[in-house]
Amino acid sequence: MQPSPIAYALPVFLLAIAVEAGVARWRGSRSYSLPDALTSLHFGYLSEVERTLARLLVIAVYAAVYRTFHAFELPTNAWWVWVGTVLAYDFCYYWVHRFGHEVNLIWASHQVHHSSEYFNLSTALRQTGTGSLLKWPFYLGLAVIGVPPTVFAGAAFIDLLYQVWVHTEQIGRLGWLDRVFVTPSNHRVHHGQNDYCIDRNYGGILILWDRLFGTYADERAAEPVVYGVRKPFHSYNPVWGNFVLYRELLVASRAQPTWRDALAVWFGPPQGWGAAVPHADFKDFQRFEKPIPRGVRRACLVQSALLTAASVYYVLMATRLPWSGRLLSGGVILLAASLIGLQLEGRMALHPRHWRLRAPDITPIPPEDTP
Ligand SMILES: [Zn+2]
Ligand SMILES: [Zn+2]
Repeated sequence: MQPSPIAYALPVFLLAIAVEAGVARWRGSRSYSLPDALTSLHFGYLSEVERTLARLLVIAVYAAVYRTFHAFELPTNAWWVWVGTVLAYDFCYYWVHRFGHEVNLIWASHQVHHSSEYFNLSTALRQTGTGSLLKWPFYLGLAVIGVPPTVFAGAAFIDLLYQVWVHTEQIGRLGWLDRVFVTPSNHRVHHGQNDYCIDRNYGGILILWDRLFGTYADERAAEPVVYGVRKPFHSYNPVWGNFVLYRELLVASRAQPTWRDALAVWFGPPQGWGAAVPHADFKDFQRFEKPIPRGVRRACLVQSALLTAASVYYVLMATRLPWSGRLLSGGVILLAASLIGLQLEGRMALHPRHWRLRAPDITPIPPEDTP
């Protein structure tokens, strides 16, 4: 099995993030915060670890369904098969994404992508580390039609890659494109927690699906988008961020009097069955921010760079390792990402002389962080 192509694309993503952060700084726009952007990257690395582990199973199941049920023999090298598959994949993606917002079990996984209160290219890499096993059944229809596994994997990558550029505040409205394709403007709405943004604009490449199924909302100039989720977990620890809502659902479901009520907790929408999304006022909204001493920032940057190299190496090499090696090295990446998160939160620091954990001296600094 080939390693995830994300590993090869990562240097380009990191360069694009640096350029966007530079443009934002030059324009005086507060689109970036260093700990938030580093945390987004770390979420992305955890996501790749999970995908690397789960891909074998997902592709094996897809290939088995394809071999057993495929209705048509579709060629892998015809352009119309690729165009048709990307469109069909994007249609399935719309529904996976919609369920990801409207069913708690899947929202617990997808909320990771929405957990940043900033909106920039690093947010595109803030992907869930628990999604692979929940989402793949939605795409099995493509195997039944006869989309070969290699074309399916290619379409999935194209859909994911397309969505990177739409995570930016540096590109404004794009006219008619905003009503046909997913663009920065309509995806800003998707990441908003304003009343008019909730459960809107689920599309991956085409926003036409939202217009077709009644979930489209245009960006409003008079009502600036407030990014993030209404129940923020306020942490730079990506392991905690991946499991926090599952834990909450488990506690809530165990408190229910009947099995039926307990299941409703997992399969109902985040606001509860039959309830409308409540109104929220963002006049006094403050983004999650922790003052971080300069030394800790520098130490975290160095550790994050090392974690980046280790994660790329893991994705490239993991398929050649035995399962014990994959799990062990994946666990080391999880641990390292958690430790950086704890340092960013000021809950521990690596002492440069003794290389041991100690409580840091927190000196407040002005909140104008850019990577
Ligand atoms: Zn979403
Ligand atoms: Zn997004």
